[in-house]
Amino acid sequence: AHRRRIALLGATGSIGSSALDVIARHPDRFELAALSAHSRVDDLVALCERFRPAVAVIANEAGHAALRDGLAARGLATEARAGEAALDAIAADPDSDTVIAAIVGAAGVSSTLAAARAGKRLLLANKESVVLAGSVLMRTAAAHGACILPIDSEHNAIFQCLPADGGRGGVRRLLLTASGGPFRGRSRESLRLITPDEACAHPNWVMGRKISVDSATLMNKGLEVIEAHHLFGLPPERIEVVVHPQSVIHSLVDYVDGSVLAQLGNPDMRTALAYGLAWPERIDSGVAALDLAALARFDFSAPDPDAFPCLGLAYAALREGGTAPAILNAANEVAVAAFLAGRLPFLGISALIEATLATVAAEPADDLAVLLATDGEARRKAGELLSRMATA
Ligand code: NDP
Ligand code: MG
Repeated sequence: AHRRRIALLGATGSIGSSALDVIARHPDRFELAALSAHSRVDDLVALCERFRPAVAVIANEAGHAALRDGLAARGLATEARAGEAALDAIAADPDSDTVIAAIVGAAGVSSTLAAARAGKRLLLANKESVVLAGSVLMRTAAAHGACILPIDSEHNAIFQCLPADGGRGGVRRLLLTASGGPFRGRSRESLRLITPDEACAHPNWVMGRKISVDSATLMNKGLEVIEAHHLFGLPPERIEVVVHPQSVIHSLVDYVDGSVLAQLGNPDMRTALAYGLAWPERIDSGVAALDLAALARFDFSAPDPDAFPCLGLAYAALREGGTAPAILNAANEVAVAAFLAGRLPFLGISALIEATLATVAAEPADDLAVLLATDGEARRKAGELLSRMATA
């Protein structure tokens, strides 16, 4: 039978390695056309040795020679390429039919759009590209026949619970579950001295450091509300967030007749990745069967807006629309990087995002060039505000 050929962008990350784990379980179904990383050359070479892709891309140009030499030293036929244009090229290459977008941050926008423009099956983990350019992405995918399969666990759950005809008939609300992160239940005051390692120690999921900090501030859920709006076409007032610390109910769809459909599973991204890889079929993902009796209970509560203001900032940006979500996302990326580098306290993350949103005026535009220019401007402004906050 025909094997799906996959381009995996962000192969060395947390989502990347979960995807490779599922792919490796089904050599009869999947093979790798291309792999990419940003700077971890040695890890990328090791993956090339194991999965034998036709092409490997190191996004950071400085790693080009090391990648070429590393592949040659192991006698691999994989072609070494470098730079962002090479990422776009493997995302659009007719040599693959499926693209997994697992780069972190707005750095993934260009290649995600390239995959949509090329009409791929697009397994979408890179939520920042949806927050930054959601309407452009959805338009592009529709115009070129790309099939977007959400990998973010909440959106994957909703995708599974929506009407089978692809419509929204009878849907009342989408309910996104949030674990609450490592600081659930804590007061704002108690979060002053949080360190990067504390913020990255998530109770239920092992993830990259950026999304781990986003989970700790609840900005991750804010980004996901915006992502859900674009993927499923519902307005913000019909997308709600409920805290569910066990992270077993991945999200729910509430229908007008009172039925609420949920997707459950152990918190492991391989379930969503296996779903996207094999859709509409189901394949083994390596994830253990759910043991409800061992779990014993599910808890729910409302998010605390005082300790976690980022969720409210994201709703406000979505309601404002236009370039506001792009400003929010850019400011968040600058703030999280500064926090991880020890240059901004934990509570400074939401403060910097709020200050950036108050400084950079949002426009109604949803044109890609305008959105990318806004992203750049918001990063510059956030950087300036950051140095003022740091010296204050
Ligand atoms: P990681 O930080 O673990 O991995 C990021 C990947 O992207 C790595 O391969 C990294 O390469 C590459 N990368 C980093 N910066 C760049 C850049 N500037 N240009 C090109 N490539 C780059 O992140 P995660 O796997 O945790 O997350 C990936 C995406 O999936 C994010 O958008 C996240 O929000 C989303 N997501 C993640 C979940 C998870 O469980 N981890 C759950 C739901 C969504 P290198 O290793 O060389 O640095
Ligand atoms: Mg998620």
